[in-house]
Amino acid sequence: MTEPTKWVFAFEEGDGKDKKLLGGKGANLCEMTQIGLNVPPGFVISTEACLAYLDMPDRSLPPGVMDQVHEQMAALERKTGKGFGDPDNPLLVSVRSGSAMSMPGMMDTILNLGLNEDTLQGEIKATGDSRFGYDSYRRFIQLFGKVALGVPDELFDREFEVVKEHAHAKQDVDLSANDLKEISERFLKVVEEHTGKPFPSDPMQQLEIAVKAVFNSWMGKRAVDYRNQFHITPEMANGTAVNVCTMVFGNRGDDSATGVGFTRNPGTGENELYGEYLINAQGEDVVAGIRTPKPLARLSVEMPEMGRQLGELRDKLESHYREVQDFEFTIERGVLYCLQTRNGKMNAAAMVRTSVEMEKQGYITKDQALQRVEPISLEQMLFPRLDPNAKTAPVAEGLPASPGAAAGIAVFDADRAEQLGKDLGQDVILVREETKPEDIHGFFAAKGILTSRGGKTSHAAVVARGMGKPCVAGAEGISVDVTRREAMVGGTTFKEGDLITIDGSNGYVYIGAIPTVDPEFTTELSTLLEWADEASRLEVLANADTPDDARLARKYGANGIGLARTERMFNAVERLPIVIEMIVAETPEQRQEALNELLPLQRKDFRELFEVMAPHPVTIRLLDPPIHEFLPDEHQLERDLADLHVLAQTTRGMTALAGTMGLLHTPENERIAFDDLRHVMDPMMVEEAIAKKTTMLRKVRSLHETNPMLGHRGVRLGISFPEIYKMQIRAILEAGAECVAAGMDVQPQIKVPQVCTKQELLRVKSYVDEIHAEVEAAYGRKVPFKFGTMIEVVRACMRAESLAEEAEFFSFGTNDLTQAVFSFSREDAENKFLPLYNRSHILQDNPFEVLDVKGAGKLMKLAVDWGRATRPDIHVGICGEHGGHPASISFCDEAGLDYVSCSGPRVPVARLAAAHAALAHKAE
Ligand code: PEP
Ligand code: MG
Repeated sequence: MTEPTKWVFAFEEGDGKDKKLLGGKGANLCEMTQIGLNVPPGFVISTEACLAYLDMPDRSLPPGVMDQVHEQMAALERKTGKGFGDPDNPLLVSVRSGSAMSMPGMMDTILNLGLNEDTLQGEIKATGDSRFGYDSYRRFIQLFGKVALGVPDELFDREFEVVKEHAHAKQDVDLSANDLKEISERFLKVVEEHTGKPFPSDPMQQLEIAVKAVFNSWMGKRAVDYRNQFHITPEMANGTAVNVCTMVFGNRGDDSATGVGFTRNPGTGENELYGEYLINAQGEDVVAGIRTPKPLARLSVEMPEMGRQLGELRDKLESHYREVQDFEFTIERGVLYCLQTRNGKMNAAAMVRTSVEMEKQGYITKDQALQRVEPISLEQMLFPRLDPNAKTAPVAEGLPASPGAAAGIAVFDADRAEQLGKDLGQDVILVREETKPEDIHGFFAAKGILTSRGGKTSHAAVVARGMGKPCVAGAEGISVDVTRREAMVGGTTFKEGDLITIDGSNGYVYIGAIPTVDPEFTTELSTLLEWADEASRLEVLANADTPDDARLARKYGANGIGLARTERMFNAVERLPIVIEMIVAETPEQRQEALNELLPLQRKDFRELFEVMAPHPVTIRLLDPPIHEFLPDEHQLERDLADLHVLAQTTRGMTALAGTMGLLHTPENERIAFDDLRHVMDPMMVEEAIAKKTTMLRKVRSLHETNPMLGHRGVRLGISFPEIYKMQIRAILEAGAECVAAGMDVQPQIKVPQVCTKQELLRVKSYVDEIHAEVEAAYGRKVPFKFGTMIEVVRACMRAESLAEEAEFFSFGTNDLTQAVFSFSREDAENKFLPLYNRSHILQDNPFEVLDVKGAGKLMKLAVDWGRATRPDIHVGICGEHGGHPASISFCDEAGLDYVSCSGPRVPVARLAAAHAALAHKAE
């Protein structure tokens, strides 16, 4: 004869690891019981019983289930000394659902099952509190009526309101025992009228109905929708278990209490019992906030023995689960019960601290400590956050382009930002339609940047990330009017000087100043990141353009610079005019003159970067963007010229007038005056300005390109204007030579952007070789360097084998590569159609943020293999924005890259993500 199926498991016998059979909650109750925690006695009816029940044609419980339930109830009676349905000493139970996955879509908990007119009297006798007795009873009838019998809540609520009105009670607490008694009577009638049957008063019948209701809830609409929404498959969770647990009461007098606790402080991670409790109260009182709970530390004073036992409970929980626990407890007449425990949710600082401390206590290994902390969560510890208690509704939403929050006055151009921010020390948010390289001084002066156009790899986003400043980009709901120095959003206008707040971690924009909470780079975080470096295979470098960026990157543990964008160095206010001279030069000689001025400045830039980073490598990318980006905006020039012509007329008139009346300034003149001509009254100077602007306009028009990102940029510029690249190469090698002469160990690396054929590399390499020989001869020193290429166009991937003949390293520029692989414009996709693509699941992720492993990634893998076929030791890495994204870093590890390079403030996230990747791949 085969053994009858075992459907029901006492907490003492269920396998705590078998969540599939017992559900998460049930397994946990079994496990807690078996490790010696004082859990109120109970049992679990398995998920298999649920599935068998759902298959029964007559919807009866499968044979044997109720027999086993009867046995278990008898055992509960023995363990508790109470009787199920015994009016003198009633046993009451709670009934809960619980599947292998936590599913809020399923049934509510039924408490106090077993109450009826008789057992209620037993309860009233036991508590001496008839008001409490009737209150529990009416709650039980309503909850059971609703969840087990399907009676709509409104029917109960209606009766409740009638009684409340008769009693002139403003709040529920004003109702007397008699009122509550009347409510229970009315509720019983509601059930009878709605179901056509009297409310079941037999406790065992109540239990059977409740068990079926829990099982039915598995196929209820809420649960089915929830499983569909979160893709919960039968392999993950199939059927729900039912947990039947003895009720214990924290409201049985001053020797009773209820509370919730964390085994460590979830806000700081401090190793102290944390939580609160209420004496003579039920669990819901703690949550409801009617009475103010006391901190757990106080329990040792009020109930010393219970305080001691709670300390023991905490130690048992941690040493068993080896994880911070969030638990619920009840004390009934001096006996402490643990009702529930689960892994505690904590903020990043607490996760980091507890990881390091639990490793030191021997609870977990270093690898486990690393794996406990989500890399991305470290942002909380690196950037200011909005005070969670002070948030209001945002007025606009853009892309979360650079994390952190900042509040300050809105300012609409970089000069004003500098004036108000740097010179007057005000907190400034630079608000622009989009930013350009010439706005860089505004970035330095601002606390944060907000743009109404552009994506996560736009200029604003990339520069802000490099500097570690918050940025919201592409907030298209905002229309910026630079001339009027104001912006419109919805129906609101904010002007220069008005306070605004941006949150670059979620893209929200707020009117007014919201307080922020400062970040904290703790010693525990340093320790954890050192462990991360030991565990990782990938090196983490930084994208850094200035010595300040480089210093920040070092502080965060970068092992060098993987990308210094030299164009960023051209934007300093004092340099831009020289750069413009270089661009608008009509002859190579004129251009050389401007370059001669730039050479010492660039040499100094590079030397500083080498010094900060020594002995780590510094990879300098030769000029990349289209040069017209450095020139003034065409439309602005046209407007300036129109104003100049008006001014020329006025000036001629005014000068004549001034000559006769000695009058130099008029309000009219002031009105039309602008920047460089504010006080000019000399018609000759105005004519000169007109001539200059006209030339500039002609030049700007001649350099105009329809698709500048695919146009005359990168190495193509270096080949059209070799003197620009030669100046940069000379500056790099001379800076290297100076450092070598000063006894420093430096590793300059020269990287060429936008390469698509070996011929381009050969051309640039010939400049390098020639200049290198000259510099070594001039300095009488050996100057080490490496020569390599960006891989950011599709053809570069396809020709990797050939490029590797010249390149000693590859650096994947996945911003451009993504653009090239998708043929999506980097500047437009993210705020035009990508959100729709993501919402409608045409694309799962934004490929400019999360590396497109299937497309761009596949191409990268091919390029790595082909490159290594030519040059096995070629150093390969990534420097696009994906280099700081954990999932993309995991791909880089798997694809065999040697390094990732990301913005400095992202380095800690990347270090931890690199460790996670290595540990995951090791486990595979
Ligand atoms: C890239 O394309 O990924 C890259 C790093 O270069 P940039 O973003 O400067 O074009
Ligand atoms: Mg690029």
